Amino acid sequence: MMANILMINVPAEGHVNPTLGIAKAFAERGDNVHYVTTEKFKERLEALGVHVHLQPDFMKQLKGVDSVLKIMIQIAKDTLLIVKELAEQIEFDFVYYDTFGAGKLARDYLGIPGISSSSSFLFSEEFMKKHGPIKAAQGNPEVERLIREIEDQFGVVVDSPAQFMRNDGELNIVYTSRYFQPDSGQYGDEYVFIGPSFPERKDSRRGFQVETLRGERVLYISMGTVLDNKEAFFNTCIDAFSDFQGKVVIAAGERADQSRLKEAPGHFIISSYVPQLEVLQQADVFITHGGMNSVNEAIHYEVPLVVIPHDKDQPVVAARLAELGAGYTLSEDDVNADTLKEAVNEAVENAAYLQGIRKIKDSFQHSGGVRRALEAVDRFVEEKKQSLGNR
Ligand code: UDP
Repeated sequence: MMANILMINVPAEGHVNPTLGIAKAFAERGDNVHYVTTEKFKERLEALGVHVHLQPDFMKQLKGVDSVLKIMIQIAKDTLLIVKELAEQIEFDFVYYDTFGAGKLARDYLGIPGISSSSSFLFSEEFMKKHGPIKAAQGNPEVERLIREIEDQFGVVVDSPAQFMRNDGELNIVYTSRYFQPDSGQYGDEYVFIGPSFPERKDSRRGFQVETLRGERVLYISMGTVLDNKEAFFNTCIDAFSDFQGKVVIAAGERADQSRLKEAPGHFIISSYVPQLEVLQQADVFITHGGMNSVNEAIHYEVPLVVIPHDKDQPVVAARLAELGAGYTLSEDDVNADTLKEAVNEAVENAAYLQGIRKIKDSFQHSGGVRRALEAVDRFVEEKKQSLGNR
């Protein structure tokens, strides 16, 4: 039977992209998928047959780690407003939510089954409270005010500010494998590790010519879509690879001020955003910040990794790759033209890294993918409906 599915998330590349596979699978079997997000992701979602409901782009206000939690709460509040309007017209069967954002609050507000999904590794509440944005926002009066407003406006209860970055559920879908997840033994059957999936991401705004990379040696460099102030790092890359035999692609990020970048030799292609899945298919080596999605994608396309982690989950991802012999880590403090060159040589020439990568890739391919997620979701929703119906 066709279901009405509400999907909510925070409007960030690293959170929306990993959900595309499951959104597509729901839509393909005839479910009505309603996804709340920003303009940026409209085209790629609609191309999968998903209905998109737009919200303003609060991510644009992101400035440093201190602001992250506040912005997540603003997004959650705005999402709840849209959910409220949608629910006046659509009877949703369940809500499928990201660990970041309104998640459990939308579930509680609607009184329907909710499924959580995690775009990165799973982290304990203790870890989240001690690291990064949640710690940085402790005691912030604006955070407390926003939480009170949400509780008053929607009649829901916020357990703790941390929940806006750690919505769990009775069923949790994780887009990696048990093998790659650190300490995965502590997570029971309510966590279903399905591995990542990479449907085509339609985006007609970009003018990147991936054809120019065919047949070339390609070094790809990206620090993801959220980090800023990376201009000096990119300038060091321009120095380090000025005589690289092949093409160097730098995805500088939409936050980068390209006027602060040096003039680069002709074999550099510098763009604010590139079609990363297509670039990785041509790449021989990837210098990355260690964002979970970038790492999953590189593993899928078997691209050796040099990881320079900055914050959030990145140090954990880098450490896990090192532990599994699947990535070379360089500390931010040690970055200079020489260490970058050495790192790239090591990642390319030491075949052990590729073996480490293939082992993780193999674990992804044995994780069951979106089909396994659909089975788990259907079973869970059926059970929930019976128990809610019997109340
Ligand atoms: N991405 C892209 N083009 C770019 C930069 C990033 O398509 O120029 C995509 C990338 O493929 C990945 C996501 O954006 O799916 C970034 O997520 P990740 O978790 O790696 O890092 P974040 O941006 O969240 O720090």
